[in-house]
Amino acid sequence: MKAVRFHQHGGTEVLQYEEVEDPKPNRGEVVVRVKACALNHLDIWARKGLPNVKIPLPHISGSDVAGTVEWVPEDENSIKKGMDVIVSPGLSCGRCEKCLSGMDNQCRNYSILGYQVDGGYAELVKVPVQNIVEKPENLSYVEAASFPLVFLTAHHMLVRRAGIQAGEYVLVLAAGSGVGVAAIQIAKLYNAYVIATAGDEEKMRKAEKLGADFTINHYKEDVVESVKKITGKRGADIVVEHVGKATWEKSIRACATGGRIVTCGATTGHDAVTDLRYVFNREISILGSYMGGKSELLRVVELFRKGKLKPVVDSVFKLSDAALAQRRMEESAHFGKIVLQP
Ligand SMILES: [Zn+2]
Repeated sequence: MKAVRFHQHGGTEVLQYEEVEDPKPNRGEVVVRVKACALNHLDIWARKGLPNVKIPLPHISGSDVAGTVEWVPEDENSIKKGMDVIVSPGLSCGRCEKCLSGMDNQCRNYSILGYQVDGGYAELVKVPVQNIVEKPENLSYVEAASFPLVFLTAHHMLVRRAGIQAGEYVLVLAAGSGVGVAAIQIAKLYNAYVIATAGDEEKMRKAEKLGADFTINHYKEDVVESVKKITGKRGADIVVEHVGKATWEKSIRACATGGRIVTCGATTGHDAVTDLRYVFNREISILGSYMGGKSELLRVVELFRKGKLKPVVDSVFKLSDAALAQRRMEESAHFGKIVLQP
């Protein structure tokens, strides 16, 4: 099959479109023919390499896959060859206390498709049977590939971790990012007021179309002052923080007394400075979030099926142009998801 791999860590130039041996499924695995695979920031970290994270080389990235079932084991009854599917990106043991209590993202053996194991920047990918989810028929392959990882992440952040309530003010940083477009929509489903930040007018208008009640241009306006103005000095009850170092200090100052900052990703850097005076004076809760439970993804899939959530696709690239696609993501030129098609 054709796939995009990197044999060593580095810039986008290390991504190679090449002939690779077809994946050989192990017991309990199926093979999916990839029709579309979305990019995530994770792909860029994996390519660059991270301390303390072992990425097997050569490596195939890609966590969000939509496609058709190519091969199933003989003893598998519920999944048929040719079925339209998406793949749940979180891989876990399925047997431990965490897995069985719906917190499989806390499983000791948790890993992410395309991160620690080969993913969907390819024509074929092998995945455990239990990660197969029927594709919502109202979505194209490109649309279906565009949502699993970021909507799962945003759902877990807002619903499971922050316990979002109707009428709360939710500050969503970087509205155009995958987590941003997901968090805006999920917060609106829960009848919260959404304040979204973006880097230009066009992205601000797009965020409003998705449901954001207020938008802030983070290059032209002071985010803390703007949030204070919008909320009548109260501050944001929930801050969806996935940017990290570049925004952390302001996220804390924009947070309401008794508010929650829920953090994941840290795309601009993890070594942010926390002014503890704000944390204790305002009784702010800082909540970590990592992916989410598979049951939450099934909830999200249903919401897409019913049209309550909408895919936001920025652009589609050929698989062989994966380097160009990743560059678009690194330049933050996108609004919504960038998707590859073999
Ligand atoms: Zn487990």
